[in-house]
Amino acid sequence: MSLASPLFGDAPVGHHIGGQVLQPADSRRQTVWNPATGAAAREVLLADAATVDAAVAAARAAFPAWSQTPPLRRARILNAFLGLLNQHRDTLAAMITAEHGKVFNDAQGEVTRGIEIVEFACAAPQLLKTDFSDQVGTGIDNWLLRQPLGVVAGITPFNFPVMVPMWMVPVALACGNCFVLKPSERDPSPSLFMAELLKQAGLPDGVFNVVQGDKLAVDRLLEHPDVAALSFVGSSAIARHIFETGARHGKRVQALGGAKNHLVVMPDADLDQVVDALVGAAYGSAGERCMAISVAVLVGDIADAVVERVAARARALKIGDGLHEGVEMGPIVTAEARARIEGYVGLGVEEGAQLVVDGRGLRVPGREGGFFTGGSLFDHVTPAMRIYREEIFGPVLACVRVPDFEAALALVNGHAYANGVACFTRDGGTAREFSRRVEVGMVGINVPIPVPMAWQGFGGWKQSLYGDHHAYGEEGLRFYTRQKSVMQRWPEARAASAAEFTMPTAR
Ligand code: NAD
Repeated sequence: MSLASPLFGDAPVGHHIGGQVLQPADSRRQTVWNPATGAAAREVLLADAATVDAAVAAARAAFPAWSQTPPLRRARILNAFLGLLNQHRDTLAAMITAEHGKVFNDAQGEVTRGIEIVEFACAAPQLLKTDFSDQVGTGIDNWLLRQPLGVVAGITPFNFPVMVPMWMVPVALACGNCFVLKPSERDPSPSLFMAELLKQAGLPDGVFNVVQGDKLAVDRLLEHPDVAALSFVGSSAIARHIFETGARHGKRVQALGGAKNHLVVMPDADLDQVVDALVGAAYGSAGERCMAISVAVLVGDIADAVVERVAARARALKIGDGLHEGVEMGPIVTAEARARIEGYVGLGVEEGAQLVVDGRGLRVPGREGGFFTGGSLFDHVTPAMRIYREEIFGPVLACVRVPDFEAALALVNGHAYANGVACFTRDGGTAREFSRRVEVGMVGINVPIPVPMAWQGFGGWKQSLYGDHHAYGEEGLRFYTRQKSVMQRWPEARAASAAEFTMPTAR
């Protein structure tokens, strides 16, 4: 399979503004790597403030017509987009693997989860239906409108370059907003391809725009007076900055942050299932998932058996180029990210955790320049250690041993991150108790990565989400619209009319 992008080849990845691809020659730029080979694949342009302003202006100009387009017609365009996404799903997946590094069938799964949000948004007319109360007083009706916000922006991370933009874009467009997307500069090509597909689907120019860039572009979006709302997904420190700065500039903000997801193994759990779940959820996508499991909480005397079996599997992981058949784990996105991850493995040793499997320094034959690291496994990790408290965002699993269910629950609830969590047990009462008492946004019972479906909404608690709304689903619709209440009376021709000076009440 070719690594070159079928759409852009080796050309610098530019912006998509007002329906046109823009590649200003004098732009700042950054290298986009092929993580499997370590070679520079292409460059991405980094927008200056004027380029961001041009994208916002294009979106603003498109808003009056798009917001007045009936939801059914907006949905038909999304439906055409859905058809094109299905037609080009493997192209998109190959683009993800080429710039992110994750294995091709994992990239296909990412595209599928993104497509599901488009399917959800195709129901726009039904989703935007509102409540109507007839005869709230004599001759008076009261109903709700959900109206779009205007120009909204999305800032997305490297780890899901298709799925995370799709958490935002279809829902925002279905609601009648115009969009400016600032994707990750580490894997920028898929966004540009999606802009091209939306154009082919019949989306009017300016309704969806992409600006490539870094902090400079984000800072301009944060302060731009014509941006009504910001959706962010990325690390917690930046999420908090986006939330605070956006709010200070009067914007609606949802900012999804980092994670440290625990998988609690109860003594009655099916250990075959547990080992499969831990290996897949800790090392899949090289641990670069916000729902990856990075902590195994081992309850009671099953700990030795779980550690031994996960260690054997971690040592046997098939690691290589994500485009090669049979590979289970690809490279890390950049050399810097790999250095950070391997630094954490060293830190864990210094902190006194037992390094059972050391993934550092892995070289893959034929891909010697690639940004690979192996799966690492720590045992006897304690809550005071930085490798427990901080997000490593790599293929490193920390095992913490606890005596009982209450200790496991207290451990999870004491963590600053609260994105996802899982509990493996055969006991219904334990599962119910866990789901109700755990202080985490997304819970899996015998499901290691409980990413909610398109119509349910995705979001963590605590430092994993700043803002009031989760992404997509009902919460996404609410985020991208504002509610207006209309109270209406048509007086009968002969009805007496007089000014009222008291609080209106139903009569
Ligand atoms: P990141 O925070 O480095 O970057 C995210 C986005 O912010 C990118 O578009 C980047 O260009 C921009 N950015 C980076 N530094 C900035 C700054 N100083 N000011 C303004 N903008 C800035 O995140 P990443 O490394 O791309 O992605 C990995 C992180 O994302 C992990 O922490 C992961 O847990 C998190 N994530 C969370 C979720 C979730 O749903 N909670 C989903 C996916 C990823």
